Amino acid sequence: MDIIDVKGIGPKTVPILNKIGIYTVDDLVNYYPYRYDYYSIGKLENISNYSLVKAKVVLNANISYIRKNFTKLNFSVECENKIIKVVIFNRHFLKNNLTVGKDIFIAGAYDEIKNSIVASNILFKLPDNMIVPRYHLKSGVTNSLLCKSIKDALPDYNGKEIIPEEYLDKYNLISNKKAIQIIHSPKDLNDLTESKRKLAYQELFNYTFKTNYLRKLNKSIIGYKKRVDENKINDFISSLSFSLTDDQLKTVDEIKNDMFTNTKMNRLIIGDVGSGKTIVCVIAAYINYLAGYQTAFMAPTEVLAQQHYNNINKLFKKYNISCELLTGSMTKKEKEDINKRLANKEIDIIIGTHSLISESTTFNNLGLVITDEQHRFGVNQRKLLNEKGNNPDALYLSATPIPRTYALALYGDLDVSLIKTKPSGRKSINTKHYTLKQMPTIIDSVSKELESKHQLFAVAASIEDDEEILSVKIIKKSFEKHFPDHSIEIMHGKLKSDKKEEIMRNFKEGKIDILVSTTVIEVGVDIPNATTMVIFNAEMFGLATLHQLRGRVGRNDLDCNCYLISDSDTKRLKVLEESNDGFYISEQDYKMRNEGDILGTKQSGTISFKIADIIRDSNILLHAKKDSEEFINSNEYLKYNYYKNIADTIESGLD
Ligand code: ADP
Ligand code: MG
Repeated sequence: MDIIDVKGIGPKTVPILNKIGIYTVDDLVNYYPYRYDYYSIGKLENISNYSLVKAKVVLNANISYIRKNFTKLNFSVECENKIIKVVIFNRHFLKNNLTVGKDIFIAGAYDEIKNSIVASNILFKLPDNMIVPRYHLKSGVTNSLLCKSIKDALPDYNGKEIIPEEYLDKYNLISNKKAIQIIHSPKDLNDLTESKRKLAYQELFNYTFKTNYLRKLNKSIIGYKKRVDENKINDFISSLSFSLTDDQLKTVDEIKNDMFTNTKMNRLIIGDVGSGKTIVCVIAAYINYLAGYQTAFMAPTEVLAQQHYNNINKLFKKYNISCELLTGSMTKKEKEDINKRLANKEIDIIIGTHSLISESTTFNNLGLVITDEQHRFGVNQRKLLNEKGNNPDALYLSATPIPRTYALALYGDLDVSLIKTKPSGRKSINTKHYTLKQMPTIIDSVSKELESKHQLFAVAASIEDDEEILSVKIIKKSFEKHFPDHSIEIMHGKLKSDKKEEIMRNFKEGKIDILVSTTVIEVGVDIPNATTMVIFNAEMFGLATLHQLRGRVGRNDLDCNCYLISDSDTKRLKVLEESNDGFYISEQDYKMRNEGDILGTKQSGTISFKIADIIRDSNILLHAKKDSEEFINSNEYLKYNYYKNIADTIESGLD
């Protein structure tokens, strides 16, 4: 059903909702809040943004205009038998309602010495629900518009249940329809917990159904059985300027095993940045070359593709193996030339971005596909590239360490190799947690680094200004004030990809001193001159993300620092201060976050789920994976059109 047909949603609202990709009732009710404000009524001494106090206006409000777009309302209230002065900024439109005798509810901060409240919000009546959902917004789309539209649409939502009854019973899960209704208007925390539990299970069951099904399909595929002279592989390995770590050797063995037998390799290598995954892939590419096949190496961005190309080309030069780079920014003629040589097998190894899977690229005999940062590529794209050959072997790389049990559940369609041991002599990055108040200390240290011509990464949790989260824009302004003579740039996911590439290149070339960015900065990009990483609102990020972010510095022999700025969350951040081992950090994260904050923002992970948080919901993940596997193996799924359709889509290679 289209949203225009919903009673209460008019023609004016439709284009606004379209802006955030909402066209149907289904889209609308599946647009989940990302966090909740949980209001309560309390005592003046406990007043906060969410703990309100009841008060009565005793002096009418008056406005002062401080500067353009900045106003201040002053009034007085009686609260707990005291007369208190209240100010609130930029709410001049409330003036006429703030008149003597009015009962109001105030959120904010109380200063006992000045006996005044700086209010963050003023309510004239309590909301029906004290838990208010907060949705991701875009200009024109307000939170109240979304709340209202969703409320209007809920009666029209058919709420089809997709979880087999057996599993609903097994875990006592509420219906889909009820879960959706609650996620938008929970009465209490229990309610919300039950809703999230159901929706997370639903999402993970669906997801693992796909990966389990894909695995079953993959296992039935006959791949190449490659034959090579093992002495040559050993010679290549001995010729490297270092000896492989135990985990690298083990992974190479697993890869050899996959490649030498006629099952198609579908292997994921997980290891920290710098753990030496690339060299393992290079060995796989060498084996593939010896067996007489072409290799494709896909990186998520041009900058990374170029970097891989430089490294790989160096290693293969003396073997007379022909390596080329193919990226979107090359001219048409250059691309045509490469494509021709690929088709004629004049190129052995091609490195590029996803332009590698564009229609015009044809291989002669593609035998191995390597995909760096695999979670960035959709299943669809993986499939396309696989079909460029005759079921070539596939190797995927991930720089997000995760305990093995969860890796197996999360990447159910792949075999998994972990590279845990790091090459010896790796330096750790000094990591320290600071509160925002301690910023001057950090500014001092940054200032010294900049003087020594080093570069700085700053990371923010938000692009736009937000009440509680510092945005890239604000941080840039603040750095500009401190460092007026340095070049400072902003980067975030809303920029066009060629703009992002350009900024990254300029940063790499040292034309930018300070890069203020959201988490989009690439995993694995080498900026040898960057020595400092400052992460604002560190509590907003998962430990894995924080660990990955700090891995952007320290790719040099210099002393490197990572500053985690947060006014809360000391316990989790301590793990990062203590350790530079991604697998250890991930384990601690799973241990600590199992009972994560039900109201708060889902922390971003490797695979983005709409509602499930793979760490908080890790137990649900393990169950869902086991259940969907059983559901497939028993052929129970054939009784459900919904799952049969998914299976058919996967079989036909469209998904
Ligand atoms: P990853 O791809 O996991 O981020 P790389 O393969 O790029 O890591 O390795 C990072 C650096 O470490 C490279 O310069 C690589 O040559 C080097 N390296 C890889 N394996 C070893 C090893 N066993 N001993 C020493 N240096 C290594
Ligand atoms: Mg790498």
